[in-house]
Amino acid sequence: MRAVVVGSGMVGLTTAFELLRRGHDVVVVSVDPVSAMTSFLAAAVWFPTAAGPSDRVAVWSAASFTELERFARDGVPGARMCESLAVYRDEPAVPAWSGTVREFRPVRPGGLPPHYRFGSRFAVPLLEMPVFLPWLESQVRRAGAHWVRRAIRRLDELDDLEPDVIVNCAGLRAGPTPHRSPCCTTTATAAPVSRSPTAVPAKWQLSSTRCERRDRRSHPGAGRASDQLTG
Ligand SMILES: Cc1cc2nc3c(=O)[nH]c(=O)nc-3n(C[C@H](O)[C@H](O)[C@H](O)COP(=O)(O)OP(=O)(O)OC[C@H]3O[C@@H](n4cnc5c(N)ncnc54)[C@H](O)[C@@H]3O)c2cc1C
Repeated sequence: MRAVVVGSGMVGLTTAFELLRRGHDVVVVSVDPVSAMTSFLAAAVWFPTAAGPSDRVAVWSAASFTELERFARDGVPGARMCESLAVYRDEPAVPAWSGTVREFRPVRPGGLPPHYRFGSRFAVPLLEMPVFLPWLESQVRRAGAHWVRRAIRRLDELDDLEPDVIVNCAGLRAGPTPHRSPCCTTTATAAPVSRSPTAVPAKWQLSSTRCERRDRRSHPGAGRASDQLTG
């Protein structure tokens, strides 16, 4: 299968890497230099926040945790485990992901910053993106991806690349990108490309790359009742 992945941020590169690992032919289409992407700015700490549905998020985040923990153990550039402290003003429910992290420990009020009454400590993977992202890109290139630098406004502008499937990983810009297949999220979208308008083979629907829209309140500085501190 020939997959065209739009975007080479964290989501696009991960998608391209996984497709290549499964033996597919991959073309990455991207417009921004790596330092201009949202992914480059991220902290980026493993911590499922304001995402759903929770049963699927628990499965996805556990898979990510296992992979990223392995990266840290193997010395992948920019990947490390990091002691983390989540703090809350109101008593939280035990998070669904608490079984995934190592040694999930409650913190007594004396060990918390001012204004927070509840907290928990645990170790999670952290990626230093200015280091990790170029490494991931080098892995994708080495695995044989073709690279096209192009800004697109419509997915059918990719016809010359002869895709069997297009995976839209254009980040925050993924939503408005018009396309001819009914598929759209803010994180990643697989749009099956069919020469016949009625045939959409199920194997082309890469649902594992599809995530639910994230709540804007999950972004830093947006007035949350909880926070995560790492060090
Ligand atoms: C300060 C900050 C801290 C964060 N901390 C964390 C954290 O601790 N943990 C966490 O999980 N997340 C964190 N995030 C969120 C995380 O960074 C994003 O969810 C993630 O980087 C999104 O990756 P992406 O690949 O979807 O998008 P992006 O990195 O934005 O990549 C989009 C790609 O699409 C391409 N593109 C876009 N439009 C077009 C077009 N029209 N034509 C061609 N190409 C196009 C771009 O060139 C780029 O390659 C943080 C974000 C910020 C800003």
